[in-house]
Amino acid sequence: MERNTVKLLGFNLDTFTIDEALEYIIKHHGQVVTINPEMIQSAQKNDEFAQIIKNAELVIPDGVGVELGLMILGTRVRRIAGIEFARRLIDRFSENSEPIAFVGAKPEIIQKAVENLKKETPSLNVCYSQDGYFKDDERVLEELRNSGAKLVLVALGSPKQEFFIEKAKRLLPEAVLIGIGGSFDVWSGAVSRAPVIYQKLCIEWLYRTLKEPKRFKRIFPTLPMFVIKVLQEKFGV
Ligand code: UDP
Repeated sequence: MERNTVKLLGFNLDTFTIDEALEYIIKHHGQVVTINPEMIQSAQKNDEFAQIIKNAELVIPDGVGVELGLMILGTRVRRIAGIEFARRLIDRFSENSEPIAFVGAKPEIIQKAVENLKKETPSLNVCYSQDGYFKDDERVLEELRNSGAKLVLVALGSPKQEFFIEKAKRLLPEAVLIGIGGSFDVWSGAVSRAPVIYQKLCIEWLYRTLKEPKRFKRIFPTLPMFVIKVLQEKFGV
């Protein structure tokens, strides 16, 4: 299966369905970036981050902002929620009890998240678990390498998790590594995912903002600015 990408503000995004994306990354290994407008805007100001996204083995459009941006440019691509993709990866790797590593979130959150996942998926083989508030990257990277993980889930927020994964993937060339933001918080039960109606209406961001109003500052003016930039790209102004 070949990658089929579309360009959005200088970044190549994969147009796979969720099933195709799973098959592709399981076969090819490497870094999965679940991209959203905030990350694109941040990468436009940070060359190193931009390079990491460009070198990722898979870039999936996460969120309605990216879906909208692509629609403005004339491409209809279904978004893939990062948390759902990560959950599907866990299931796939657990079918053969392949070792999975968890890095990120507060200590009690990661512990609870792993506990809950194990209840749902008893064949889950946790080879490593580390909260996200460590100082010594080198220690964690070394431990990760020794764990022999085949799937590495990293929840440090963006772009921290993408930078961390970029280093980790060199030590674990056979692994799939994905940055998953606040997913451990959801799996732990500490934060609830938006009800299905919000998901269906593509307004999960609204639910998260209502629950956590400080997110408002992160979304605005990022989202309108992002749309303006996409319109500029489309009309060349
Ligand atoms: N986090 C972490 N270490 C840090 C900063 C953040 O482990 O130094 C965790 C935080 O506890 C949370 C996740 O990273 O579980 C980031 O969540 P956020 O909702 O900010 O992610 P995003 O909105 O980027 O998906």
